[in-house]
Amino acid sequence: MSSLKTIGIIGAGQMGCGIAHVSAMAGYKVHIYDMSQDRIESGLATINGNLARQVTSGKTSDEDRKAALARISGSNDLNDLAQVDLAIEAATEDESVKRKIYSQVCPVLKPEALLATNTSSLSITRLASATDRPERFMGIHFMNPVPVMKLVELVRGIATDETTFSAAKEYVSSLEKTITVAEDFPAFIVNRILLPMINEAIYTLYEGVGTVDAIDTAMRLGANHPMGPLQLADFIGLDTCLSIMQVLHDGLADSKYRPCPLLVKYVEAGWLGRKSGRGFYDYRGEVPVPTR
Ligand code: NAD
Repeated sequence: MSSLKTIGIIGAGQMGCGIAHVSAMAGYKVHIYDMSQDRIESGLATINGNLARQVTSGKTSDEDRKAALARISGSNDLNDLAQVDLAIEAATEDESVKRKIYSQVCPVLKPEALLATNTSSLSITRLASATDRPERFMGIHFMNPVPVMKLVELVRGIATDETTFSAAKEYVSSLEKTITVAEDFPAFIVNRILLPMINEAIYTLYEGVGTVDAIDTAMRLGANHPMGPLQLADFIGLDTCLSIMQVLHDGLADSKYRPCPLLVKYVEAGWLGRKSGRGFYDYRGEVPVPTR
């Protein structure tokens, strides 16, 4: 474990719960905050289910599962973050949402507490400027699903100080993840490369070059990807994919990053992928069925 003892998580979505899971397994006390009590309850149930699966597959013992669960609490009261040493914001990928959260959470946090964002694409320097602690703010970008994926990108803002960076490094290393350091450019490294490929797959569908099944099969078997790009887009969340493409398009001012109109349409329909039950596949039945 690192010198940080208590981790606060803001946002009980897919990422927040994954970060809570791995932090609790590594011995940290974890408190999850979300504005929605329902999200907290479903998030805690997801963590429980994922830990139980790790016991069944022999990755962890039942004793460790119980101990990890006992270290996690959750509430929709921001004041419960007052004792955390590091707060990791993993709320919706929308700059105005994140800014509002920082304005509410900063007065509650201990003055010496570190604040990090799990943003997939937004400028760390700009987000830092919405806090009262730019020196103690940085990007800690986990990959989805957190308990499985080995990589974490660390991103400094212009004001991030070395103590903050070292503490984040120590924390991430204690989770047995591999670190890559990225500069503060739109979407950092992984998503700068991955999202334009996903967006291109959606254009391929939009232009009728292939069906959902054809495109995913082509990339799985033809490029040896473990998952097709449309299946992966559903897994990430189509709202998050769209947000990242918008950040790339706005931030790099190059038309090659133009979000595919079909992606926009799916998001407008509320078809956000796996988390909402429908995206490029319909997940409401026994097996996922392509929607095109
Ligand atoms: P999600 O939609 O599953 O969860 C977002 C959560 O934020 C929800 O529970 C929502 O209730 C909560 N939230 C929204 N506004 C809030 C507020 N004002 N206060 C408190 N909670 C609030 O999204 P996610 O996939 O977990 O993504 C979260 C963050 O992680 C985003 O910044 C995203 O870019 C990043 N990220 C996502 C992935 C991915 O593959 N999905 C991977 C890496 C990073």
